[in-house]
Amino acid sequence: MMGYTFDAKTKEWIQQAMADNIEESKAYCRRRGFQLIIDLPQYRRNSTYRKAFFESHPGLFGRDFYFCSYCGKLLRKDRVTVDHLLAVRAVQKSRFLQWFLKKLKIKNVNDQKNLVPACARCNERKGTKTGFWLLRGLIGCHSAFWISCYVLLLCAITAFFLFCIPAIQSLK
Ligand SMILES: [Zn+2]
Repeated sequence: MMGYTFDAKTKEWIQQAMADNIEESKAYCRRRGFQLIIDLPQYRRNSTYRKAFFESHPGLFGRDFYFCSYCGKLLRKDRVTVDHLLAVRAVQKSRFLQWFLKKLKIKNVNDQKNLVPACARCNERKGTKTGFWLLRGLIGCHSAFWISCYVLLLCAITAFFLFCIPAIQSLK
């Protein structure tokens, strides 16, 4: 392909384009049935997002503990992976997600509003998925949600031992 170089790591053909020949690339990809990924600086992962996340999120009660936004597991800071809620790759590929980011008033994928703490397992399982994972992340990024879940669970267990077990025993 003219002017394109192959990236063996991502298995993608890459072309440096100026703003005025993006339309040409779009038409080329459409004709050939290729998927076009426009790699603009605002949709690129930066090297400081993890550090910036921890600076603005000191963790639970100011300590270095975080809940995984997807499964609620309590993690020490060194076990936390910082996940892009809308995955970088997914945003680069989808005009809809770029529009969605704009609607959320997020100018850059590395914006704090697009970063959530996650365990390594959930981060890997989520990958570039959106949909249900996005919903889980939006709710689960609030520590109060997981604290409420754990308190409710504790109440349910306590109630079971206090009321249900004596009730079952009195039936015998
Ligand atoms: Zn998790």
